[in-house]
Amino acid sequence: MTTFMDEYLAGRATQDDIDDWIEEWHQGDSGLEAHEFLGLTWPEYSRWVERDELPTPDDRRPGMARVRLQGGQVVIAHGVADCGRPCAVHWPSEHHMRSWPQHWRADRGIIERFCEHGIGHPDPDDEARNKVHGCDGCCTGGPMGVSQPGTNGKA
Ligand SMILES: [Zn+2]
Ligand SMILES: [Zn+2]
Ligand SMILES: [Zn+2]
Repeated sequence: MTTFMDEYLAGRATQDDIDDWIEEWHQGDSGLEAHEFLGLTWPEYSRWVERDELPTPDDRRPGMARVRLQGGQVVIAHGVADCGRPCAVHWPSEHHMRSWPQHWRADRGIIERFCEHGIGHPDPDDEARNKVHGCDGCCTGGPMGVSQPGTNGKA
């Protein structure tokens, strides 16, 4: 599937064209989320929403890169070019913790997400095998619930 970012980085689309793509996403039935349809990773999409900045070819080079986690922490992680899905940093799956702030636990080498009670739970998309943690039950999908259909902009 060709995305807006493919066209944009190849010089066949301009930043203004993104509106047409969003329009197409609204009308289409791709079953994709907006950021996927556009070809933007989760942090790239957030940056575009907040600051109207799109990635440059530099951002897509292979190698390690700075990336802003959900919640604002900036870490050095593998770059988008080296990423496989799902990825806690770039391509989070549609889990109920996705809007929770993330935190890189350097001591454990794991990304956690904080629930509304301030408890850190391992990110569901983190590859770490040892996910033992002091838990208040929120990461199992308790009272926060699972994402409701229709809340992601689809009709
Ligand atoms: Zn990644
Ligand atoms: Zn909690
Ligand atoms: Zn937990």
